[in-house]
Amino acid sequence: MTAGRWAAPGRVNLIGEHVDYAGGLCLPFALAERTVVEARPRDDGRFTARSTAETGTVDLALDEIGPGAPAGWAGYPAGVLWALRAAGHPVGGLDVVVTDTVPLGAGLSSSAALECAVALAADDLYGLGLPRTALAAACVRAENEVVGAQTGGMDQAAALLATAGHALLLDTRDGSTRQVPFAPADAGLAVLVIDTRVRHHLADGQYGARRAAVEKAAAALGVPSLRGLDVADLRDLDADLLPRARHVVTEIARVGEVVALLDAGRLPAIGPLLDASHASLRDDYAVSCAELDLAVAAAREGGALGARMTGGGFGGSAVALVPLDRLDAVTRTVRAAFAAAGHREPTIRTAEPSEGARRLS
Ligand code: ADP
Ligand code: MG
Repeated sequence: MTAGRWAAPGRVNLIGEHVDYAGGLCLPFALAERTVVEARPRDDGRFTARSTAETGTVDLALDEIGPGAPAGWAGYPAGVLWALRAAGHPVGGLDVVVTDTVPLGAGLSSSAALECAVALAADDLYGLGLPRTALAAACVRAENEVVGAQTGGMDQAAALLATAGHALLLDTRDGSTRQVPFAPADAGLAVLVIDTRVRHHLADGQYGARRAAVEKAAAALGVPSLRGLDVADLRDLDADLLPRARHVVTEIARVGEVVALLDAGRLPAIGPLLDASHASLRDDYAVSCAELDLAVAAAREGGALGARMTGGGFGGSAVALVPLDRLDAVTRTVRAAFAAAGHREPTIRTAEPSEGARRLS
């Protein structure tokens, strides 16, 4: 069926967690794991989709796509067409077959990979010529409005704008981005992603509560966002808001420090900042959990230079910066610690900063 094939990668966030809704900075990079879609235009105004990762075929008219419809996984690709059309772009029908995928629900952003591969396919097949930032915006709208999942723009920016050998500095205050050199292998290092394979149920409610606390803190201080504040500026906040705001302010500062070190070619020196990020997320922001804390502690015990939870928290994955000659030791130490604690066996993979979305054929 194929008129072409497009791929978009998953991502992991190196640092800058829970600051995207506070005008902060984050630093994701693209993974080698990617989602591949085959796509072909149709002239009857219909959208069809199937995926090796899900059962059944979805088939509906473009006009039937909207908030909540179609339900389920097809909302992600269909939502992209809806968002492009809502922005006035002449997108017609499309057949989509998803043949390869970023692991689903592992915190590696399979949802954005799927959206971004479809957005690139639609852009090519309908000759839209849109900048990638516009495609990313359509993907965010698809996820927020059609699927109904509240996500910022980090995942889509990483999938569409990342380049190999770099992390993507994303300034969520104005959406601007910059490529920051990040090639761990060249420094004798690797990033390990430790997927705890747990997701605690309080995650969604707690996300909303943290977001509300950060907005309340900004309102109490009379500022539009916490960006640009120092810890000293927070002293008059109520005791329940102070640690939440302190995480945001210190985390944004840590991203700046990491970027400065990477720009200076001092990659191994970022380890302590990863550790500090984890402590802040655990103690001030209270979004970690036993499995993530154990993954981080065991990684360090095995010889990691630094480690932190990544993503929303309450489960999901941790990242660790590991000397290549300690990879086996770290992996073994983490596995042994999980077994001893009676946790599920984690999935551990290395993550090499990889290229963003592109057409394959
Ligand atoms: P994450 O983005 O961290 O992997 P999400 O919950 O945001 O987790 O997105 C996962 C959902 O995205 C899946 O449950 C599924 O609905 C959809 N999805 C992602 N990749 C695919 C795929 N290859 N085929 C079908 N659906 C997919
Ligand atoms: Mg997602």
